[in-house]
Amino acid sequence: MTSQISETAVRRPIGLGIKRGLRHRCPNCGEGQLFGRYLKVEPNCAACGHDLSQYRADDGPAYLTILLVGHLIIGPLFFFPFMWELSPWIVAPVALISLTAVVLLLLPRIKGGFLGLMWANRITEEQIA
Ligand SMILES: [Zn+2]
Repeated sequence: MTSQISETAVRRPIGLGIKRGLRHRCPNCGEGQLFGRYLKVEPNCAACGHDLSQYRADDGPAYLTILLVGHLIIGPLFFFPFMWELSPWIVAPVALISLTAVVLLLLPRIKGGFLGLMWANRITEEQIA
C-alpha cells in the first residue's frame, strides 16, 4: 500500500516525457525503443520493463499532426504566388506528395511525444475506461 502511494506521488516531468517520446524512446527511462514498427508501440520497454501498452493514444497523434500540418504548412502555402501561378497539374501532385511525406515523418514523432505526455500525467487505459 505504501509503495503504491509513494510511486504515484513521484512527479514525472512533462517536458522530459515529451522529449523522450519525440526521440522514440521509452518515456520512463529514455533508453528503450518506444516503437517496434512504424507506429506499433512495444508492449514493454526492453531496457526498464515499463508497461508501455497501458498508454493508448488512439486518434490523438493523428489529429494533432493534421492540425499542425494544416495550420503551419498548408495555410501559409497559399500566401506564396507560385501556388496560384503554376499549373494545378504541377502544384497538386507536388504538394500532395510533399505533404504526405511530411505527415508520415511527423506522425511517429508526435505519437511518441503524445505517449510521453500521457506517461507524465499517468493517463493510462484504466483511467480512460
Ligand atoms: Zn524504459
